[in-house]
Order: sequence, then structure tokens, then C-alpha cells
Amino acid sequence: MLGAMECAECGGTGWRQRGDDGQRRVERCGCWRRQMEQTLLAEAGIPPRYQKCSFSSFITYPNEKLRRVLAKAREFAADFPVVEKGLLLIGRPGIGKTHLAVATLREVVIGKGARALYFDTRTLLSTIRSTFNPVTRTSEADVLGRVMAAELLVLDDLGAERTTDWVADTMNLIVNTRYNDRRPTIFTSNYEDTDDESDLDSLRVRVGFRMHSRLREMCEFLQYDGPDFREFDFRPGADDLLQRWRGQPRGKLPRRTRAPARAQLQDGRLELPWEGGKAGG
Ligand SMILES: [Zn+2]
Repeated sequence: MLGAMECAECGGTGWRQRGDDGQRRVERCGCWRRQMEQTLLAEAGIPPRYQKCSFSSFITYPNEKLRRVLAKAREFAADFPVVEKGLLLIGRPGIGKTHLAVATLREVVIGKGARALYFDTRTLLSTIRSTFNPVTRTSEADVLGRVMAAELLVLDDLGAERTTDWVADTMNLIVNTRYNDRRPTIFTSNYEDTDDESDLDSLRVRVGFRMHSRLREMCEFLQYDGPDFREFDFRPGADDLLQRWRGQPRGKLPRRTRAPARAQLQDGRLELPWEGGKAGG
């Protein structure tokens, strides 16, 4: 881990002398801290396309809700680990929710040396499922353990998964364990939080009542809107985003779902194996 043989400060030991009062005291060298940050960032599992996402590279323009969300995310990172609640970033695809979630994670890793973990929700579930042992009803890989123990967890794209009973139980296990252990989680979701229980695209219907109620307790809900980054064929600046934003209709998120989101309860039993098809597809 200490590949810093050439470090002039510490000679590669990771410790350097504190030359303040003539006593032989040492402290961690800057090279050791930088190496530690790089290790923690690598272990966080941020997808390559998001690895450079930071608060300073997040483009803002006069959009009050977007600016408020950025301020809340910065505040969360600054206060970490002394935070009451996690964050739930809600809004249509392509408006930078993952960017903000990853920026917060990176800030917490680099600034605080925290052990953090990123997962796309469907990828996480398919990973757990692929290593799930139906006999012992545990995941053979230690994914579950790592996800529960991470000091900060980012779960991206919540609600995109097809919610079978197995998915609901697994998600509730993860979320409840983290809640009970007071470990914050940052979620993103494309599904709007409405009170309309007949709306199949509402967050409550997508994730289930139990999960939604827990999210309410453990997260600050931050909903915003903006132009879809992916609709630009160039890298948009603040002016481009503002112009597109002004011309965009306001209001509810577009409808997407045609079929019921939740699978029917099968006599309330835990259904194994998962019949949900290829997760993440
Ligand atoms: Zn050094």
C-alpha cells in the first residue's frame, strides 16, 4: 500500500517527523493520506463515467430547487458523519442526480476518510441474487455485509427494479439495518413522490408502502427538475441549461409505466427463486 518509496517527506514509511518542539513525535505523511483516499475511492465502486463527478463540476443555473439540492448535498458532506438523515434525490432522468450523489460520496471519502459504497440498485440486487443460496437464505458473497456496513451508501436509481417480494424483503433488510445502525444512505430515484396511490409511477407504488414509510423517516426528500443532459449533443453550459429549462413544460414527471409495478403477493410468501428476469436489463 505504501508505494511511496520516493517520498522525500517520509522515505516511504508513511510517517513523518513533527519538528515542533524537538521531541520525537511523528504524524501521518501527506503521501499516506493521498494513498488512503485513492484506495477508499477505488473500493467505493463508482462507475467509470461518474468517477470525476464533483460539486465544482456540477453546473448550476437559476433554478431554485436545483440550487437548494446542491446546497443540501454540500451541507451533508460537510456535516458527515454527524447527520440526522440521508438524502433522497428525486427527479426525471438525466438531470444530474447521480452526479450529485457521487460528488457527495467523493467529498465524504476524500474529506473524512469514510468507507463509502456506490451501487446501482438493480446491479446490487442482481449481485445478491446471483450469489444467493436458497438453502441457507444468505448471500454467499459478502455484498450484503459490505452494503450494510458502509459508512455511507449510495443507492442509485431506486424504484427501477421490478418489485417482487424477494426484492422488497431484500431492500427492506438493507435499509432497516442501516437505519437501525444509524448509517446514512443517499438514494436517487426517477419516481416522483406523490400521495396518489393509483399513480403507478409514484415512488410509493414503485418501492412499496413499507419501504416508502421507512424512507420518509431516514431521508430528506429533495425533488427537482431540469433539462435532460443527454438531450444535448454537446456539453451544455449554464446558459444552455437555463435556456432549455425555460422552454420546458413544468409539472409532473412524464408517465412511463404501463403495467402494474408491484408483483402480486403470492400468499404473502417469500418467492424464490426470483422470477423477475434479468435485473439491470
Ligand atoms: Zn510520505
